[in-house]
Amino acid sequence: MTSLWLQDRESFPSDSLDGGRVQDVVVGAGITGLVTALLLARAGRQVVVLEARTPGAVTTGNSTAKVSLLQATRYSQLLGRHSEDVVRAYVEGNREGLEWLLRYCAEHDVGVLRRPAVTYASDGGEGLRRAKEEHEAARYLDLGVRWEHDLPVPFPTSGGTVLDEQAEVDPMAVVDALVKDLRAHGGRIVTGSRVRGVTGTGQLTVECRGGPSVVCDQLVLATGTPVLDRGLHFARLSPERSYALALEHPAPPEMMLISSHGPSRSLRDARAGDARLLLVGGEGHTVGRTDSERLHVDRLRRWTREHFPEATEVAHWSAQDYGSHDLLPVIDTMPGSSERIHVATGYGKWGMTNGVAAALATAARILDGHVPWARRLQDRPVRAGAVRGFAAINAGVVASGARHVAGAALRPLDDTTPAEGEGVVGRRGPVPTAVSTVDGRTCALSAVCTHLGGVVEWNDAEQSWDCSLHGSRFSPSGEVLEGPATRPLRPARGSD
Ligand SMILES: Cc1cc2nc3c(=O)[nH]c(=O)nc-3n(C[C@H](O)[C@H](O)[C@H](O)COP(=O)(O)OP(=O)(O)OC[C@H]3O[C@@H](n4cnc5c(N)ncnc54)[C@H](O)[C@@H]3O)c2cc1C
Repeated sequence: MTSLWLQDRESFPSDSLDGGRVQDVVVGAGITGLVTALLLARAGRQVVVLEARTPGAVTTGNSTAKVSLLQATRYSQLLGRHSEDVVRAYVEGNREGLEWLLRYCAEHDVGVLRRPAVTYASDGGEGLRRAKEEHEAARYLDLGVRWEHDLPVPFPTSGGTVLDEQAEVDPMAVVDALVKDLRAHGGRIVTGSRVRGVTGTGQLTVECRGGPSVVCDQLVLATGTPVLDRGLHFARLSPERSYALALEHPAPPEMMLISSHGPSRSLRDARAGDARLLLVGGEGHTVGRTDSERLHVDRLRRWTREHFPEATEVAHWSAQDYGSHDLLPVIDTMPGSSERIHVATGYGKWGMTNGVAAALATAARILDGHVPWARRLQDRPVRAGAVRGFAAINAGVVASGARHVAGAALRPLDDTTPAEGEGVVGRRGPVPTAVSTVDGRTCALSAVCTHLGGVVEWNDAEQSWDCSLHGSRFSPSGEVLEGPATRPLRPARGSD
């Protein structure tokens, strides 16, 4: 499934990497990595971005790309878990991220639609309670929200909290501008280069798949979930997948909306030439933990047909982002790296502002700058809510793993070939094996995720193998698509 923004893209010309030594390596060319790399290159440093796929290919290019300080029910949740000064540091970071991005778009001719952002109550019960709570939390944090009883939308609501003058962008237009600018400042972007490991403590040697190693002083992991396990970040992150539709519509609501309560619905408008588009997102769940991904797309379609019957679908897609155990982004350094390996993730689907904020903080750390809000976030104390969040993430991982360890789900595989577009997991002898048929090709692979040994599940919307432990995903032939894994699924024993 391809997002509206990634449709019809030309192939990306990679820069070359001859090996050798640079000052900074940034791993990952999403919004976090590209902004970080640009800030470092502008400061005169030699920067190489290593990207496993192509710029924007993973989460950024699949984002609905609302650039907003009002973020569903985030503030009421954060105030319940953190001290006020930590939450204010979060707001300040996001405000800086938003302002930086909008200034950047204005200076580089990237189109922006200024729109109000709304957290709406879809019912008069729990939905209304949460929307009101968010309204109070946002007011308390001086966000300038107002309450609207009647929202001009064709689906039922019990009102919502509104923050004016937020923004919508095409995330790939942002990526394109960043790439061009980075190159103009001497930065290089090497695609098809998957980082597999890092050694050394003084100088760091970065080992890539399909290319030479590169030596650097500072390394930024802007890979979504970090691809090095030494910080155990995977245990503090929850990989959340969600779904989106883009539809032509004669008059989509000119606002960004998100429901305060499940099932989540997120809407925005967009322009494509003369066409007016409506984007509808939602139906989130932890990666790999659902009976059928396709059903989530169907539910989103049904809801959209009911409320926007004149809309015509032009794209549908899904993607994942990482929520953290304490709901705050992880903008940190790896333990034991002498502050040379930097990590930025955990935006909980609000990375257009948080990703830029993380880049500003990370570049400042490397350049010996001081960003008080970032320091406050990094030094936040561990509170009871965070411990509960950590326990919840890992209880889910354990439950998911136990299902397979018990072998309950793994029946012996027979010789039947899965139907086109389908995949099955079972045992060949004692070995968990994953077999799928896509585009007429049947592939049998080890079903054991190369990250931490979870058993993969078939994603029937994306036709991929997804690991329900930490969100690694693989193509039908076993190549890594995303997540913390860096090595492909192995061919099943006895297959070629
Ligand atoms: C459906 C959906 C809708 C969203 N909507 C919004 C929204 O409206 N507003 C908002 O603010 N946020 C939104 N988000 C969140 C936001 O899009 C993300 O937080 C943000 O794009 C993350 O950017 P990133 O640079 O950290 O990660 P990515 O864009 O995923 O970039 C990471 C890059 O690292 C590369 N990589 C990974 N591993 C390796 C490796 N080993 N070697 C080399 N490269 C590697 C990947 O290929 C990838 O290109 C949404 C997220 C989703 C899933």
